[in-house]
Amino acid sequence: MIAAPAMKKIAVMTTGGDCPGLNAGIRAVVRSAIHHGLEVTGILRGYEGMIQNQFIPLPSHAVSNIIQRGGTILKTARSEQFKTVEGRAKAYENLRTNGVDGLILLGGDGSIRGIQQFLQEHDLPVVAIPKTIDNDIYGTDYAVGYDTALNTVVQAIDKIRDTADSHDRIFFVEVMGRDAGMIAVLSGIGSGAEAIAIPETRTRIEQIVQVLQRGWHRKKTSMIVIVAEGDDAGGAYKIADAVRQRFDSFDTRVSVLGHMQRGGSPTCFDRVLSSRLGVAAVDALVQGRRDIMVGVIDNKIAETPFETVVARRKEFPYDLMRVAEILSL
Ligand code: ADP
Repeated sequence: MIAAPAMKKIAVMTTGGDCPGLNAGIRAVVRSAIHHGLEVTGILRGYEGMIQNQFIPLPSHAVSNIIQRGGTILKTARSEQFKTVEGRAKAYENLRTNGVDGLILLGGDGSIRGIQQFLQEHDLPVVAIPKTIDNDIYGTDYAVGYDTALNTVVQAIDKIRDTADSHDRIFFVEVMGRDAGMIAVLSGIGSGAEAIAIPETRTRIEQIVQVLQRGWHRKKTSMIVIVAEGDDAGGAYKIADAVRQRFDSFDTRVSVLGHMQRGGSPTCFDRVLSSRLGVAAVDALVQGRRDIMVGVIDNKIAETPFETVVARRKEFPYDLMRVAEILSL
């Protein structure tokens, strides 16, 4: 395929919540664009920087030695202004002034909703690379950042298990996931948790109490309950309180893992995923495809229109809850 005639310069940015693996994706976009003879500009702080005209040149050396770094060299932000017609018009004006012919964004479903709104008012070829530690974006088996966050959580729970075991304690560990229980379920299986509470299923305190009592009678010396922050029964503190009210002979503690889940050096899986998607995003733009998200389905690159990404819900792997339950004896 030959490059679309007008495409000379593309922009890349990270938008919405941060996660590990973004730098690997930026590097892949820049190097791949250069491979295709394109110039690359970086937009700082996502949509906010687009409105504030924060464009920087991104030559090849600007992305040297960043593949292993967490965070994002382009910074990221949430933008209230981009939710307004005027904000989006200003963003478009700045894209034109900076000579941008196409845009690649590393963003979550919020960012994709935002750009979809923008594209109803303005004309620009855009390709998105999915990133979220929650792994709940439709159109890809894995989103950038999820694998690293999961491994960070498992490592943290392993450490909590050591102290829990030394003191014969039960820990309620709160992990990220406002609407999604993927991190909770996978880290639960990976760390051998006794119980898992997620937003996708109704959490019954009685059931958790029963599991913990059973473990206690079997002389387990430590137990871990993983709670996704958006669970319907409340966060880890609320669930721990409710459990204590029904059975107060447990020595319980709560640990909220918080923002550490978003940081750190990306796993090799996330680096490779981000690299593949960066190359695929540039390929798509150069070959004239637009307004799509590139993802990986069954280990192959898959392109999904923005409207499908935001309209469809990714199927939750309920069978994994069964695996966790069977193994928590
Ligand atoms: P993520 O991409 O990580 O899901 P957010 O949900 O915070 O992150 O969305 C990132 C940004 O996308 C928001 O700060 C806002 O500027 C923009 N955005 C989200 N939804 C819309 C929308 N419906 N219309 C316009 N802009 C939006």
